[in-house]
Amino acid sequence: MNRLVCTILILISGLSYVAAQGIVPDALMCAEKQHLQNRMRFRVNPNIYHGYNIHYHRLNFRINPKRNGYLKGSVFSYFTIEKDADSIGFDMKYFLKADSVKYHGANVRFTRIADILYVHKPGGWKTGSSDSITVFYQGNPAVFGGGAGYYVYDFHATGPIVHTLSQPYGAYYWWPCKQTLSDKIDSLDMVVSTHSDFKAAGNGLLVKDQKINDTTRIFHWKHRYPIATYLVATAITNYEEFNQHARFHNRTDSLLVQNYVFPQSKTELLRDAEPILPMLRLFDSLFGEYPFMKEKYGHAQFTWGGGMEHQTMSFMVNFSFDLMAHELAHMWFGDKVTCGSWRDLWLNEGFATYLTALSYRYLKPMEEWLGVMRDIRDAVTGVDDGSVFPKDTVQVNRLFSGRLTYNKGAFVLHMLRAKIGDAAFYNACRKYLNVNPRAYSFATTQDLKTLMEQESGQNLDTFFQRWYMGEGFPYLNINWVQKGASMQVTVKQRPSHPSVPFFKVPVPIYFKGKNGDTLITLYPEKLEQTFSLLLPFAADTAIFDPEVEVLAKTSLGGMNQDKTIKDWVVIKGNPVKGDKLELVTLNMKIEKMEIFNLSGQKCMETGADFLHSPGKNAIFDISTLAAGMYVTKIKGSNQQTALTFVKL
Ligand SMILES: [Zn+2]
Repeated sequence: MNRLVCTILILISGLSYVAAQGIVPDALMCAEKQHLQNRMRFRVNPNIYHGYNIHYHRLNFRINPKRNGYLKGSVFSYFTIEKDADSIGFDMKYFLKADSVKYHGANVRFTRIADILYVHKPGGWKTGSSDSITVFYQGNPAVFGGGAGYYVYDFHATGPIVHTLSQPYGAYYWWPCKQTLSDKIDSLDMVVSTHSDFKAAGNGLLVKDQKINDTTRIFHWKHRYPIATYLVATAITNYEEFNQHARFHNRTDSLLVQNYVFPQSKTELLRDAEPILPMLRLFDSLFGEYPFMKEKYGHAQFTWGGGMEHQTMSFMVNFSFDLMAHELAHMWFGDKVTCGSWRDLWLNEGFATYLTALSYRYLKPMEEWLGVMRDIRDAVTGVDDGSVFPKDTVQVNRLFSGRLTYNKGAFVLHMLRAKIGDAAFYNACRKYLNVNPRAYSFATTQDLKTLMEQESGQNLDTFFQRWYMGEGFPYLNINWVQKGASMQVTVKQRPSHPSVPFFKVPVPIYFKGKNGDTLITLYPEKLEQTFSLLLPFAADTAIFDPEVEVLAKTSLGGMNQDKTIKDWVVIKGNPVKGDKLELVTLNMKIEKMEIFNLSGQKCMETGADFLHSPGKNAIFDISTLAAGMYVTKIKGSNQQTALTFVKL
């Protein structure tokens, strides 16, 4: 049974379609993915039991890139013991040499097992007690497999650089830490001593930049927000600096945007950095106050070929629009609220990809936003299978899949927003980000789903089952036929993967004709369904999903029967040479034919004995007509038409 479901949502006009341009999510994603893939296998022994809840670190580093990447340092840690223990553990790569461990000023015993440093205290620690220790150590992490990318000694055009990038499990390559995705450091100080020609980038607020002498300069970065271990970073080179100040809606305070750039790139990056200010304002108004408002946001240029969302200071290969938006988005999704496990990585990357697209929506012409969403859709539907949910987190290729974790994650968020509406979607996002226990902590996919359900009042089990757990997307075959005001649309669906028997997707179709246009959204309930609608104008064009809200691959065809019928008969060869008028029909029967001159006088007509066989050309003798212009009225069984011809 056909069901009439016709919702005229909005009348749109003046839509234009410009080829997709701009965003290149694949390039960005590939870069992040590659980096992460290379690193995942170096994951620290997951069996280490640290034994404490970390509160605070003070990191002291002496690094002079003018010589090499050698690091000499100390790490002070303040913590609360979780369970009675004789020793506590730090992740620390074996090649870092521990010189001593101080407990309240005195040396204490430590032992090394593979990549773990155990600190032993006579008498041990009691559950719930808070305490501190300092590890003094040194080494050159850059020489061990190039620091595996976690700690890199490199050169750009005008100087050497040391930069770090610990995601996901690389911090222990360069400092003794608790390398986990379940315990954030509540507060951090990092003091870097380097050559006086250089600057050291870091997390938080620069509270000291002190030149000691011609060869030594000290940078002290102070960060008073919780931070995941993998987001602690520094980069040291002959940086030049330029600052911007972001202002926000309805607030008087401004935010420092601090940029550390290579001298040779400064002119170019000064220009490219401009969009970061409207982006900050945009994300701040959509998702809640910039998470590190009391400190800063910033960029530090580095030589690795992508970007990394180090908390309050993203490391960037360049300042492209997409890269800036992506890394800035991570300040909310990734840094303030971090994925609770690598299985939930899409919460970081799907959101960062979607927020990059939203930057196009609000900061660029509408066609570019639609182009970006079309690019994302094309990237996802290029292959038939795959879910956002990674079944196997050991398969790093899958875990960091640009197509699924980034692009499909982003498009699923986009459809979720369309499904539950802007108000519910953004309210849920703001609660996800700004309400405990997730704010400045960790969150899971279940957390997000629960919030979206609470805010919308909708049960999203099926949506998440199909779009998050399920693989693939629907192939839609759409066919329309219009006759008069009556429009019939048939939608056939074939899911691209058997894990989902049916995708319940809206089917928006934009119809356009000479006398009107409209967007009609159909809601099929089964694999094949025909809808009968009323359309108050003759459509000659139909476009599927002009606002790019549905993740599907489509073929769309149709016709306006009236238009076809109007052309049911044509004159063969016009102007007409000679004495014969030949009418060609589309398998239709001509009942009657009359010819008038331009004064309206009838010159000829078919007689009562006229008989025409449908499909055959009808030929009339017009030898009696003088040369000139005529109108012929032709009547068929259900239709009639008037055609003008010239007799030569
Ligand atoms: Zn990212």
